[in-house]
Order: sequence, then C-alpha cells, then structure tokens
Amino acid sequence: MDVPRARAVDSGDHHVNAQSRIAAILEVLREGERFLVCSHAGPDGDAVGSTLAMGMLLEQMGKHVDLVNADRVPVVYRALPDVEKIKKALRVHGPYDAVILLECDGLERTRLQGLEKFFQINIDHHASGVEFADLNWIEHEAACVGEMVYRLFKAAGVTPTIEAANCIYTTVLTDTGGFIYGGTRASTFELARELTLAGADPIRIAQQVYFSTPMSKLLLLGAALRNLHREGRLAWLSITHQDMMRSCAVEEDCEGIVNYALAIAEVEVAVFLRELEEPRVRVSLRSKGGVNVAEIAKRLGGGGHENAAGCTLEGPLAQAKQQIVAELRSALENSPQRRNGRNLIA
Ligand code: 5GP
Ligand code: MN
Repeated sequence: MDVPRARAVDSGDHHVNAQSRIAAILEVLREGERFLVCSHAGPDGDAVGSTLAMGMLLEQMGKHVDLVNADRVPVVYRALPDVEKIKKALRVHGPYDAVILLECDGLERTRLQGLEKFFQINIDHHASGVEFADLNWIEHEAACVGEMVYRLFKAAGVTPTIEAANCIYTTVLTDTGGFIYGGTRASTFELARELTLAGADPIRIAQQVYFSTPMSKLLLLGAALRNLHREGRLAWLSITHQDMMRSCAVEEDCEGIVNYALAIAEVEVAVFLRELEEPRVRVSLRSKGGVNVAEIAKRLGGGGHENAAGCTLEGPLAQAKQQIVAELRSALENSPQRRNGRNLIA
C-alpha cells in the first residue's frame, strides 16, 4: 500500500494535529484489508481491552484482523468478549497491510519478532511515548489507550457494540486505578458515562477485575509486605524468585502490589522490586507527589507515566534495590514536600 511515511510530521496546534493523525490512521484502515493488532508484553487492562476493541472496530469495518500478544491474558481479563481471539505468539508472519501497536514505545516492547517489515501505526498515551512508527498518534491527555480507540470508532462513524463498550470501559477503569489516578478528569467520567449508555456493565467489570483475585496473589502480597521498608517519603517492598515459587505466583500476580507501599500516609514515592529467574530485577515505580517517575524509569531504560512507570535493572536484587533507592532519594531531595495531598490530584 502506498501510504506516505509520517515519522517527521509534528508540531502545530495539538488538537488539529490529533485530528490529522486520526484521519491518517483511518485512511490506512479503510484502504487495507488485513491488519495485526498487538500491545506490550505482560499486558495490563488497557493493553488487553484496547487490543480487543481495536479488533472489533476493524471487524465492523469489514477487515481481517489478527490479535497477538507475547504473553497470555491475565486471569482477571479473561471474561472479556472475544478474549480467545488474542493469540499468544513470539513471531508474526502476515502478510498485513499494517500493524497497530497499542501502548508501546518501540517494537521491542511487544517482545514479538517479525513486525519490522510491516507498515506500523503507533497509538499510545505514555509520557515516555516515542514516535518510532510510520504513523504515530500519542495523546498524553488520554486516560487510557482505550479512550483513543473509542475516538477512532467515533471518527470512523462506527457505533461501538456492547462488547466493545465493555472492553473500552475496562481500559478506563483499570488505567485510572478505579478513577483515582492522576489522569482522571471530567472527560474520563463523561467517557465512562457514554460507554455505560452504550451497554458497558460497570458493576460486572469491577467485580471481575477487583473481586476475582487468585489466592496466589494474596500469598505473594504477604511475602512482599514482610519486606516493606519506609524511609521518610519513600517506601519499597520486594519479592524474590523463591517467594514467587512458594506462592505459586505468576507475573500478573505482581500487578498492584506497589500500591500498598504508596498507600502509606507520608509516602510520596513507592517501589516494588521483583527478582526475575535470571539475575535481573523488574521495578515498578509509583508517585503521588511531585516526583516524575517516568523520567527516572526512562533514564534506566524503561518508561511509563509521570505517576506510574517501570524498568528492568541488573541484579542481584540487593544491588538493584540500592540503585533505585539512591535515585529516588535524590529525586525526593529535589522535590518540595507535598501539602495535604494536593499534588495527588494536580
Ligand atoms: P508497571 O509498574 O505496572 O509494570 O508499569 C507502570 C507503567 O509503566 C505502565 O504504563 C507501563 O506500560 C510502563 N512501563 C513499565 N515498565 C516499562 C518498561 O520497561 N518500558 C516502558 N517503556 N514502559 C514501562
Ligand atoms: Mn495505558
């Protein structure tokens, strides 16, 4: 397909810019026939829900679409409609007229091989988003990538089905942590309202996401809390590979553990470290004050949002802990103490 490469296109009025990118993406979707939709490895609610909704949009447009992820869909999202269509794979073959990458700052983040040869569309909302693709639409203001997919539905003149509304609602709910994280604004509730009117079931989705916790996750949380430390405005907790084995836990059981450290009254920055099987360490960073953890994660080879980010460090665990704690100590020294939690909602 002869579509102009748009790597260098940028600047100008933000709104007009977004409109022109949406138009360019829709043009590719209308002209093509076969598409691949994928997201980052270790998918979260936004990754799964937006992949499914994007697939539904393409199917409603009469296209052939494959949905692929390098990792399996976490248990709590397995009740979503069409979830069985997301295939687990390490390599993709095509042919595709375009691949749509959701929530990724580069092809590597998918951990999928074989993407390079296809026309790439990058749709992301991360502060650390990168214009790596042929067509890039990065919207920092969007609460979730699902919100951006919803805008594509509207721009394409396609009415979301009840199934699509449920998938997109899941992205809004989970990426705002249940409407409590920084990106939550009036438009987020407006979006939730529209999706509910379109048939999304907020209660059923919340029960599925927040009240379907596997026992392994609680056992793992117990292990993490035994390793909880606080130093002024900073707190950290960690688990070893052995903790994972003892709890019969899997990677997805780690999601949200960092929030228990952030929940402490005086704490403004929290870290969760997980020892991987090989001598590397996964790091989850959260902030509820003025510290921009995306900047810190990016410096260490990761990325994310101002208030939620992650990266992978070299082990062993004790050394990674020292490294990240030192980084955060110095970031906090340069950040004025927050008053009455006001920065939390700034
Ligand atoms: P989590 O701590 O839940 O794994 O990630 C928090 C946020 O940071 C998510 O938005 C996630 O996409 C992003 N993130 C986590 N790890 C990485 C990473 O290694 N690279 C990039 N670019 N983003 C990451
Ligand atoms: Mn997201």
